[in-house]
Amino acid sequence: MQVTLQKAFVKIDKEQCKGCTLCIETCPVDVLKISDRFNSRGYHYTEYVGDGCTGCGVCFYACPEPGAITVYKRGAIVDEEVLSEA
Ligand code: SF4
Ligand code: SF4
Repeated sequence: MQVTLQKAFVKIDKEQCKGCTLCIETCPVDVLKISDRFNSRGYHYTEYVGDGCTGCGVCFYACPEPGAITVYKRGAIVDEEVLSEA
């Protein structure tokens, strides 16, 4: 069995984001930024800078758009392919 320790991170669905910046303002470690690009609805959308998220979830609770932000907490990932062969 192969186990990997995954760092916390966030995924932002750019098409759900309206660029209100509430998540950016509330993130305690300042790892979110507004993109220069637009989504298909004409909003600048938020992006994760790629490192440093603690998985605290503050951005998720600040966001008014259900489904725009998904928080992945730090934790162990089990390689299921390896597991199924066990
Ligand atoms: S989960 Fe916390 S640390 Fe990670 S981006 Fe959201 S507010 Fe910032
Ligand atoms: S709080 Fe939600 S809608 Fe507002 S900028 Fe962040 S991801 Fe986009």
